[in-house]
Amino acid sequence: MSLFPTYNRFPLTIVSGSGTTVTDDEGNDYLDFVSGIAVCNLGHRPPEVQAAIQEQLDQVWHVSNLYQIPLQEEAANKLIEGNDLDHVFFCNSGAEANEAAIKLARKHTGKEKIITFKQSFHGRTFATMSATGQEKIQQGFGTLLPTFEYLPYNDVEAVEQIDDDEVAAIMVEVIQGEGGVVPGTAAFLNAIQKKCKETGILMVIDEVQTGMGRTGTAFAYEHYSLDPDIVTSAKGLGSGFPVGAMIGKAKLKEAFSAGAHGSTFGGNPLASAAVNATVETIFAPAFLEEVQRKGELFKEKLQESLGQLNIVKEVRGQGLMLGIQLEVEAIQVIHTLREKGLLAVLAGPKVVRLLPPLNVSEEELDKAVQIISTVLQQQDHLQSV
Ligand SMILES: *Cc1c(COP(=O)(O)O)cnc(C)c1O
Repeated sequence: MSLFPTYNRFPLTIVSGSGTTVTDDEGNDYLDFVSGIAVCNLGHRPPEVQAAIQEQLDQVWHVSNLYQIPLQEEAANKLIEGNDLDHVFFCNSGAEANEAAIKLARKHTGKEKIITFKQSFHGRTFATMSATGQEKIQQGFGTLLPTFEYLPYNDVEAVEQIDDDEVAAIMVEVIQGEGGVVPGTAAFLNAIQKKCKETGILMVIDEVQTGMGRTGTAFAYEHYSLDPDIVTSAKGLGSGFPVGAMIGKAKLKEAFSAGAHGSTFGGNPLASAAVNATVETIFAPAFLEEVQRKGELFKEKLQESLGQLNIVKEVRGQGLMLGIQLEVEAIQVIHTLREKGLLAVLAGPKVVRLLPPLNVSEEELDKAVQIISTVLQQQDHLQSV
């Protein structure tokens, strides 16, 4: 084995994909309700993104940020349209987007502390691992960046009690993804907003998983009356082309003046072509309304078909980012779903996470509900005998 064993891989080799369907090396088809972990939000090989990348492939792939990249500016314009954010920095991943956010927040405020939350996930670089409120991610790497403080998620009082002049930013996920598909409550998110407005602490929202239409709005914070200073994006941003973005307010511009930060690959012509085509499709109001409608339908159908089962505690989430909280370990369920033709992913030990492409059809949602309810009914029966 010539790879570092950093991943526990399932025994599945996907050799092709189209829309919601992927095919393995033995010719079996699967409904892909993982989407490469909220990356292929337009399904596999969406024609409009494929065409944009193909067109750029025939012109120039990479030039570096030494030169003008009009497509990158066009992509930035699309990302700040319809919200109160002003400038974009392109990078190559979610961790890099959060890394940029942490650097910008510290440089702009001249302060070092960043408050994050328990069970959060912000990435695997040193700063973003330090920001992540999960010991299992941090273990064995020695001294972390010492400037992070972790508060309990959805604890309004803990937020209200923040009283510290040294805090640069509060960084939060609207729905904790890796932490178990745990939605932030409106009261909690509003308390963070209020604290930030009152004290000048910057509000940073990590939309790496929840953004790009996943919850039925361009970014998940739009479901609430939030006014973040910085928003980070990656996963779905390039439909599978690796790209990330850190998006911030105009007041932060000076802190990221020339030479303050950078990335060789960030926003190169191929990545920018992918972002443009992706954002144009996903941010269309009619597309997002469909995501909301299908998300509600999917959740209702799951609740209806699973509500009676003892092993199912709750179905939660928003849009097409749903989690089924079980009373038992979920890994066997993930395996059985795959054997029955449905790909799903864990979010913590007891949560089955469902992240279908946003353009999934109602028929595909119905088929998934059918497979899930069959598998969980069997599991429920096994548990009770
Ligand atoms: C996946 C994820 C990240 C890390 O993104 P990478 O591209 O793997 O670096 C950060 N934050 C959240 C909320 C994520 O879901």
